[in-house]
Amino acid sequence: MAVTAVKMDDGSFRFSGRAFSSTKAKNVALSEFGCVIHDWGVKLALIPDDVQGGALSQQIGNARFVRNRYLSDRNSYYQETKETLSPARYKKAQLPELKEKFPFLKLSDKFALEAAIEHVDAAFRKFFRHETAFPRFASKWRPSGNRYTTKYTNGNIAVVMDSGRPCLKLPKAGKVPFVLPKKMTFTDIVPPGARILSCSIKKDSLGLTASLQLEAAIKKPEFPETLSIRDMLAADMGLRVFAAVVGDDGCQTVGNPRWVRLHARRLRRLRKALSRKQYDQKAHTGSRNWEKARRLVAKEQRKCASQRKDFHHKLSRAIADSCTAFVCEDLNIKGMVKNRHLSREISSVGWGSFLTMVKYKMEAAGKYFLRPDRFFASSQTCSRCGYQNPDVKDLSVREWECPVCGAVHDRDINAGKNLLFEGVRMLKDMGVTVTA
Ligand SMILES: [Zn+2]
Repeated sequence: MAVTAVKMDDGSFRFSGRAFSSTKAKNVALSEFGCVIHDWGVKLALIPDDVQGGALSQQIGNARFVRNRYLSDRNSYYQETKETLSPARYKKAQLPELKEKFPFLKLSDKFALEAAIEHVDAAFRKFFRHETAFPRFASKWRPSGNRYTTKYTNGNIAVVMDSGRPCLKLPKAGKVPFVLPKKMTFTDIVPPGARILSCSIKKDSLGLTASLQLEAAIKKPEFPETLSIRDMLAADMGLRVFAAVVGDDGCQTVGNPRWVRLHARRLRRLRKALSRKQYDQKAHTGSRNWEKARRLVAKEQRKCASQRKDFHHKLSRAIADSCTAFVCEDLNIKGMVKNRHLSREISSVGWGSFLTMVKYKMEAAGKYFLRPDRFFASSQTCSRCGYQNPDVKDLSVREWECPVCGAVHDRDINAGKNLLFEGVRMLKDMGVTVTA
């Protein structure tokens, strides 16, 4: 069923049809108004009371239960019939039965249980596309088994003020107070014209967090048809430096923040301390000192992660604001992580999420984000004469002299320059004029 959009008086849009699931279909419906869907997320730290905390934990457990049930039923159904037990059929036929058999499932809202089934189906589809391994059972002892997602309908999820405190209204849990994020006011969380799509609740060792998925219709950004090469930047992501950002007029290297190593060291020390404390592997319980040490590890991990995210956000914002086109390599990150010597460093710098941020910020502003082919030999090509030097494949070669034209290259800067030229070529292919 096609999605149709109706413009409301306040400038927002109302969709009809199977509108909640498909951004693509909404964009088609919005194109006649010159708008597109912009989606984003907000993370909130919840401060539930005991009853609310219990209700949320119950729903997390229920989602895990339904997920594992569906996964096992789907597997055995396939064994018997060689056919797929579709999520739609399971929801209609088996879910009501399960609810009768296990009354605690009635403590969950309908969408949370259905979402658990859909997640399994999504995991299977990813598996069939060879993107992930075969879907696993959710476990209480892993982060993936400690979350649930519920969908928005008729105001079941809302951000409200309750006796002077900002609260998140959630099905079956009521109004749960949350910490107002820094630099945000109450109305910033769900700005006018935006709508909540869904909410994921996650439990980890430090507490409960809610992630709201939001969307709004914004004016379609216009991509310029001509731009100057001076408005272009290219980045070569590296290990020695985080990125070498190269423009027409020079190069700027952005170092890896000092805290990467500092926290790795501190984390290692805390983990060692934790391993010395008493812990029962079978019962999954530890001594009081074990619990204390565990909290310290968890805190350090969170600190590390949020520092990295902050660094990525600030740098990606700076890049998106200072250029009109950005070129960077399509890194084979998964392949590189398999290299044991590099894997720890690579996982801790996190280029993948950083580049997603840059892409997102550029495209929302009507700017080009370009990724040359993975096999484009950016670091081995001489940026002056185009000679491909096979000796440079070795990552330890930092500086080299071109045997043909004699130019001396810094590895990262040379790669950045090549990416810049490749970006110009890609823009021309797209019909964009690049002036000097
Ligand atoms: Zn050369």
